[in-house]
Amino acid sequence: MKYRWLRGMVLRVLYPVLMIVGSFKKDKKEQMQRFVINLNNKLVRAENLKTKKILLLLPHCLQIDECTIRLTHNIYNCEGCGRCEIKDLIQIADENELNLSVATGGTLARRIVKDIEPEVVVAVACERDLSSGIVDTYPLPVLGIPNERPFGPCLNTQVDLEKVKEAIRFFSQ
Ligand code: SF4
Repeated sequence: MKYRWLRGMVLRVLYPVLMIVGSFKKDKKEQMQRFVINLNNKLVRAENLKTKKILLLLPHCLQIDECTIRLTHNIYNCEGCGRCEIKDLIQIADENELNLSVATGGTLARRIVKDIEPEVVVAVACERDLSSGIVDTYPLPVLGIPNERPFGPCLNTQVDLEKVKEAIRFFSQ
């Protein structure tokens, strides 16, 4: 309970203050969002909640831009060609019997969370979407994993699959 309250302070008090500071220091904003995500993750881990009702929430930009299959309504439309990590993430979700969804933005992500009603979320996104999503869904515990963007924002992004597996293990074992 103590950690949940602390998490609330970080997300509802510290985060808005940092984002005001970040609007003046734009080059530091992402760093501050990453700081809040890390702090949130530490406090979620300290709560040590164990459950199988996990939602794995992914950003659509993990799908390679050359793939024309529509995944937003059903990620299982993926044909598993292996050109992007969507194939691996479906496999991870199947092995762990998780709910798995792709969101095109914060609004859809919040709707998915509302519909599925998970007990915890493992979320992958950029620092901006991740931090605002974690704040919006509080008190739901979310472990946030920032994506990797070797081609710049929103294009053919990637995620460290080991970090995803570890986060799922943390909640389920
Ligand atoms: S694994 Fe292949 S089919 Fe599935 S989303 Fe990626 S590119 Fe498309």
